[in-house]
Amino acid sequence: MTPAADKSEVARLIMELRGEGIADQRVLNAIERTPRELFVPATFREQAYENVALPIGHGQTISQPYVVALMTQALELNDRHKVLEVGTGSGYQAAVLARLCRRVLTIERHRALLKEAEARFAKLRLHNVTTRFGDGTKGWPEHETFDRIMVTAAAPEIPRNLLEHLAEGGILVAPVGPARRDQKLLRVRRKNGDLAVDDLGGVRFVPLVAGLPRAREGLSRPPRAS
Ligand code: SAH
Repeated sequence: MTPAADKSEVARLIMELRGEGIADQRVLNAIERTPRELFVPATFREQAYENVALPIGHGQTISQPYVVALMTQALELNDRHKVLEVGTGSGYQAAVLARLCRRVLTIERHRALLKEAEARFAKLRLHNVTTRFGDGTKGWPEHETFDRIMVTAAAPEIPRNLLEHLAEGGILVAPVGPARRDQKLLRVRRKNGDLAVDDLGGVRFVPLVAGLPRAREGLSRPPRAS
């Protein structure tokens, strides 16, 4: 925890998450130990421990803490798991995952966001996070399978490629639905070769976009509150 973090603000957030049904104490501890203020732009630092999504530039957002908690809990992590995250963004979700599993591999298609996230992982000494610049819908060529996969951007359906990378006994969570509305969070389990899907409720994510940004899309505009 950095000295700037107000302990009572963090405690209030944890209580709120518990009140909203996050029961996994390991997940709550990981959130408590991850200084969200380091992952938001300076202009939003005062809102860092509010239970809201915030802009991080390039039209992207850091997810609401409740959604981070819900998705993390849904993965049922342990310290042997190798986890793939698609959509590094600020790096906050990856930092929370890193405290609950053996290794996190995270992919981002905006180079500038990835660089900022990498600096945060270094600052927090999260040595079990590996980053990659690229299109996460293609998976991670050097790795056959992952025990857990989390997609933090929404697509009309779960990318088939990612399902193929899910190990036997593995769990994938991903928001599925049209851009910015009517999305649901799906959890997929691979068991005895079959895939079982359950619906964890409504969510709202930025879109999962195939390919890399064109020059203009990659330009940073100052983030605005939405
Ligand atoms: N997990 C992030 C929130 C991510 S917002 C956090 O904790 O802050 C979704 C992110 O997914 C954005 O940064 C966006 O650029 C990225 N993204 C969208 N499509 C992608 C793709 N095909 N491959 C990799 N990253 C992608």
